[in-house]
Amino acid sequence: RWVRDVTPSPESITVREHHSFVQLPPPGYRPRIYDPRASFFGVDYLDYAAPLSEPIAKRFIARHRLEKTDPKAAVSEAVQPIVYYLDRGAPEPIRSALLEGARWWNQAFETAGYKNAFRVELMPEGADSMDLRYNVIQWVHRATRGWSYGAAVIDPRTGEIIKGHVTLGSLRVRQDFLIAESLLAPYEKGKPVSPKMQEMALARLRQLAAHEVGHTLGLMHNYSASTVNRSSVMDYPAPYVKLGADGTPDVTSAYATGIGEWDKVSIAFGYQDFAPGTNEEAALSKILLDAYRRGLRYLTDQDARPAGSSSSVAHLWDSGTNAIDELNRLMQVRRAALQRFGENNIREGAPLATLEDVLVPLYLVHRYQVEATSKLVGGMDYTFALRGDGQTATEIVAPAEQRRALAAVLATLKPDVLALPEPLLKMIPPRPPDYERGREHFKLHTRPVFDALAPAEAAAQHALQFLFNPERAARLVEFHALNAENPALEEVLETILAATWKTPHGEGSSGQIANVVDMVALYDLMALAANDHASDEVRAIARLELDELHGWLNAPLAGRQAISDQAHVS
Ligand SMILES: [Zn+2]
Repeated sequence: RWVRDVTPSPESITVREHHSFVQLPPPGYRPRIYDPRASFFGVDYLDYAAPLSEPIAKRFIARHRLEKTDPKAAVSEAVQPIVYYLDRGAPEPIRSALLEGARWWNQAFETAGYKNAFRVELMPEGADSMDLRYNVIQWVHRATRGWSYGAAVIDPRTGEIIKGHVTLGSLRVRQDFLIAESLLAPYEKGKPVSPKMQEMALARLRQLAAHEVGHTLGLMHNYSASTVNRSSVMDYPAPYVKLGADGTPDVTSAYATGIGEWDKVSIAFGYQDFAPGTNEEAALSKILLDAYRRGLRYLTDQDARPAGSSSSVAHLWDSGTNAIDELNRLMQVRRAALQRFGENNIREGAPLATLEDVLVPLYLVHRYQVEATSKLVGGMDYTFALRGDGQTATEIVAPAEQRRALAAVLATLKPDVLALPEPLLKMIPPRPPDYERGREHFKLHTRPVFDALAPAEAAAQHALQFLFNPERAARLVEFHALNAENPALEEVLETILAATWKTPHGEGSSGQIANVVDMVALYDLMALAANDHASDEVRAIARLELDELHGWLNAPLAGRQAISDQAHVS
């Protein structure tokens, strides 16, 4: 099936296997000790022969071998530069964008006092990308717009990277093109097609090339970098969309250019070749602590990916210094783009049903920023501090910020925010044959016709899952117990119910959207009350709030006398 997706005939393909028998690298490489404050991944093993007074676990960072010809000089060439080779299969203008982005890393090596130590060139004619002697950036066709990869072949004894191997899928850049189409409504009748979508997509590809090469230089993600002036290519960048003076979305600064400040710190930490006599341990620690003092931050996958994660700054696909402010700003951009949304969002002659394809990324454009914002509720910030390094280990997110975050998330669920303009709803017919629905479309209850409520349901399910997360709920209980200023779980649940069930509903589709959001909140509350993974206290409080809601709905003065609501409340 996967082969069929990328080739006309899955029966007729050539599979080539490449074996590399490689001599272990020569001596002379000095492993660098792993430090949790630096964003390198690494190798570790247990040395059972280690002296009893030393740790049994040995941890080294993964990095290429790189030495200065003159470690005492302020700027030095490298004994052997690191060279990456780009797949000749990458077509222009993609080829140039990938070369440019990958070459940004040389800025970081220059900051570390290297000259011409990092290069990116086109793959030599006839060379095999599987050949272990080449660090490669491969351009491949694959069935989904899923992840790209930055992999490496590493000497397990030392962490020395023998080969960096980046694999970039050709499909995913089209998602950026689609996002730009959704924001810009660019296809005005009779006008030439704007170059802005392609420019934004290529800007993203430069970022992507730098990002994946970064992994093969030994680097992990830094998901807190976007909150410090886009300070790392190792974050996942959300397109930063501004509203122009005329109120239309502007994507000209969607993605940062050049290597980030944190990336320079990383290369200095991992690749600095210190002058003889330097206290290396102290010098390495200073590189990191100086960076943290400048306000740079580092947190990674484990801190950002889980729905229950607690950091206020480690998020995927977010923007801005403060998650709440950025969400509020982004909702204005979304509103402006939705108001302009219509037939100019698809090309002349495209099936009108494909308006939905372009609508999905715009309607849900705020989804990652909602996730980021919800993490401030019951949030705790932290660093990977070491004993004696003076860093603050933990800090609960300020109570006022937690409440402001909750309000901002709930504001995204208001019917007027979730409603689609009626002229647009009239414009989207059922999909024609050969344009099947897929996982990139809304889940309709009204098939075959487009469902005005399904997008609202999707947005509500997405946003509320984070607020009803069992770890977050348990933290709310405990943080409130430590300090009564922190919002309690009861307060958060009651605020959600006050913003949904207990807010008077409008008539017509506005009321129906409110009902849809109510039901999502109710299901989430019931699920939390019955969640095996939630603490007993969390389940007890969720149960109590359910009982309280039930009582409120059945009280004579509940204010829900309208007949259309009877089914909703009974
Ligand atoms: Zn990555």
